[in-house]
Amino acid sequence: PLAAAPARYATSAEALHTVFGYESFRGNQAAAIDQIVQGGDAVVLMPTGAGKSLIYQIPALVRPGTGLVVSPLIALMHDQVDALVANGVRAAYLNSTQAAPQRAAVEGAYLAGELDLIYVAPERLSNASTRSLLQRGTLSVIAIDEAHCVSQWGHDFRPDYLTLGELGTQFPGVPRVALTATATDATHREITERLRLNEAQHFVASFDRPNIQYRIDPKVEPRKQLLAFIRSQPERSAGIVYALSRKSVDQTAEYLRTQGIDALAYHAGLDSSIRAAHQSRFLRDDGVVMVATIAFGMGIDKPDVRFVAHIDLPKSVEGYYQETGRAGRDGEPAVAWMAYGLGDVVQQRRMIDQSPGERSYKMRLGQHLDAMLALCETVGCRRQNLLGYFGEPSGACGNCDTCLEAPDTWDGLVPAQKLLSTIVRLQRERGQAFGAGHLVDILRGASTDRIRQQGHDALSTYGLGADLTDQDWRSVIRQLLAGGILVPKGEYGTLALGESAGSVLRGEAPVPLRRDVLGRTGSGSPRTR
Ligand code: ADP
Ligand code: ZN
Repeated sequence: PLAAAPARYATSAEALHTVFGYESFRGNQAAAIDQIVQGGDAVVLMPTGAGKSLIYQIPALVRPGTGLVVSPLIALMHDQVDALVANGVRAAYLNSTQAAPQRAAVEGAYLAGELDLIYVAPERLSNASTRSLLQRGTLSVIAIDEAHCVSQWGHDFRPDYLTLGELGTQFPGVPRVALTATATDATHREITERLRLNEAQHFVASFDRPNIQYRIDPKVEPRKQLLAFIRSQPERSAGIVYALSRKSVDQTAEYLRTQGIDALAYHAGLDSSIRAAHQSRFLRDDGVVMVATIAFGMGIDKPDVRFVAHIDLPKSVEGYYQETGRAGRDGEPAVAWMAYGLGDVVQQRRMIDQSPGERSYKMRLGQHLDAMLALCETVGCRRQNLLGYFGEPSGACGNCDTCLEAPDTWDGLVPAQKLLSTIVRLQRERGQAFGAGHLVDILRGASTDRIRQQGHDALSTYGLGADLTDQDWRSVIRQLLAGGILVPKGEYGTLALGESAGSVLRGEAPVPLRRDVLGRTGSGSPRTR
């Protein structure tokens, strides 16, 4: 006869003290746990580090039966199960890394009512056999972790998540909880609808991480800027540096090491033994800087990461928030620093253009990028922009670069007009299109071979922009790209007019631009005219 695992503890507080050794619940942990313990559904939106795991682990210990946890991150699953077992919780997992006998043992323990918690990868759960196995035993709660993976428009969509909506009818009477650390209003709605959590109570914590200072600098010499940033931090600060490509990860780690920084590389192209060694040094030793692709960090529980640096632009604000959220989980001051530049914008637009997929999908990727650029180019508070993106109103924070030092703005209308009309002339009169470099040469009146050969020194805008430096022009172009006044065309990143270019050409729309084009050095900002 099949048995339900008995309740291990009479109250949530008892489980909290005895199993986890904590004094009290944090934030709305207790309220969410109560809702589930009483058999109700819940949707939990809380930032990384808030303590979402206890929200399903404790009900699993207080209610009879076994708690089912759907989690897409196998490494995280292993860590959590190990930690639970170390605390005396009877936890196990079912995933593709297991051999058949191991799996059979877990299944047997579940059916015998000997498990408090069972972790299952979503692809296992979309299996009819896994579901029927689970139906033969008794579940106490169903937790769907990383619930934003159900969002088809999100940055982390996993098709297997779509089938999780059926769990409510397949396991009637079992309370369900969906949890995520990344959710805009739209994703929140999608989670609720697709997972059919219409009756659920919603627990939404502030996404603010007040101890993280946000800083975004224009990219000039990324490595040197990164080095200067790391050196500006307290000595032997642990940090993560995110780069887009494996090659850039390797080169950056190597460069930092030659500069005396204890830097290690981490990406999917490295041998798994090297990855494991680097990860454990990062976790164990003080002051290791991990240079990594975004493959690194999910499920890494290192509370004293003092900074997260991005030397390439993340693809979305959700990604940026998640990655920067790995800093300062201990609540102590931490910094999220990023350098971004025109190259990032052009490269990502090109990747979007060339990506397979429907127009609407590409448009969505473009929107993600635009939101990211809006954060980079904002003249207002970074945190306000970031929280606003997640639908959370807030005031200026006083702890980001733009709050600490109000960015100077200047009216970029006239330079924008010069640039746009150069593009229009080249296009209309000669059927030509060029990238940023050549356009800037024309505007600055440079005398290059290409300009002479093409006769571009005869254009009426030739030399009209000599009052701005090359860097200034690149910033203008970057901000015009960010604002959709310019759009990149084709695989060479040539520039064309965007939708709102017309109103700029007619002088109807102001073009406020950040003056701090060269970062904090102060030199080379455009002169006020
Ligand atoms: P999340 O899943 O929201 O990112 P975790 O569940 O991993 O967060 O919890 C983050 C850290 O906070 C963990 O080390 C966890 O043990 C700890 N924690 C959770 N709840 C409490 C609490 N009530 N009191 C003290 N520490 C807690
Ligand atoms: Zn601020």
